[in-house]
Amino acid sequence: MLLLIPGPVMTHPDVRAAADRDIAPWDQAVREEIGDLLTRLRIMAGGVVDVHVAMPLPGSGHFIIEAAVRTFVPPEKDQGQGAGGGILIPASGQYAQRMMRLARAAARRVVELPVALDQPLDPAAVDAALAADPTITHLGMIYSETSTGIIHDPRAVGAVVHRHGRRMILDAVSAFGALPIDVAAHPEIDAMVFTANKCLESLPGFSLCVSPIARLLERRGHADSWSFDLADLYQNGLENGPGAARFTPPIQPMAALHTALDRLDAEGGPTVRLRRYQDNMAALYDGMVALGLQPCLPRALQGPIIMNVLAPQSDAWDLKLFVEALKRRGVLISNFRNTEAPSMRIGAIGAIGRTDIEQAVTAIGQTLDELGFRS
Ligand SMILES: *Cc1c(COP(=O)(O)O)cnc(C)c1O
Repeated sequence: MLLLIPGPVMTHPDVRAAADRDIAPWDQAVREEIGDLLTRLRIMAGGVVDVHVAMPLPGSGHFIIEAAVRTFVPPEKDQGQGAGGGILIPASGQYAQRMMRLARAAARRVVELPVALDQPLDPAAVDAALAADPTITHLGMIYSETSTGIIHDPRAVGAVVHRHGRRMILDAVSAFGALPIDVAAHPEIDAMVFTANKCLESLPGFSLCVSPIARLLERRGHADSWSFDLADLYQNGLENGPGAARFTPPIQPMAALHTALDRLDAEGGPTVRLRRYQDNMAALYDGMVALGLQPCLPRALQGPIIMNVLAPQSDAWDLKLFVEALKRRGVLISNFRNTEAPSMRIGAIGAIGRTDIEQAVTAIGQTLDELGFRS
């Protein structure tokens, strides 16, 4: 089955094979391996030794986003003592909404910034919102909005955040591994968060952040949670070694990431991987247009990770039925949509290339014919 979903993505058999063994997480050799893995990720993110640290947390991407929000954004209840904060979140799509939801559930004050869903985030809008409310301590932004397919610009937005003396939480979950990021060039970043199962082309089960050590030392005990306290996680690393876990970690997926990073290096690194994804997306975009379907974004705004394409205009259209019929031809796409109008959501990332995409386009065309959606 060819999975064209934006995570968990298709992986190479060697990556899955690396998880096919029993591993004792507490074993000293395993701890050292995990420590090496985290060093590799810190370097990949542009993090500086003794300034930045990469840390893993069990659970999916939402877990590390919640941990970053809880650890760094001061809770509303502190407001009385003048220490309260707030997080400004540009409403760029579903993933921005999810960040708002988990921040509110953690009793952090959320300031929603309405933005156009079909445009990259405007730094001037962030500038104005931060100027208008000096009590906002953080900006939470999505690098690659996996619901719209648009790539936003953390460099331009981060510069504004830095100029205002505020901090940033960057959701790079569907970006890291392909889109460029250099945390050393982002002094405003408190946490850059990602997972292993998207552009890193590894297995799901844990999430990661790269954060400045100085901030982790400042923020001890503020998370209102032990599980989600990144400052506590950092202290544990100081006491027991950087690869030590506080709770049983998903050690098999963690071991597999080593192999996935070897493959990323062999491919030529994130820049070369990004070019493959761009080529995949070009084939997908052209293919959808050739089938007579209408992409939701103009070509110039279409990012390389995922595309939304409008469904054929027909009262009989049923996405779940279509997805099941397409599956019988060996291709799996998302069975939910992220646009108001009926659409399909198709990923272009993972251990796949142009021929896989072309095969998928053919299968989509055949399925449209089979169900009578193409004349
Ligand atoms: C995938 C993703 C997440 C995390 O999703 P999980 O299902 O929790 O792993 C967060 N943000 C973005 C932009 C994503 O694409």
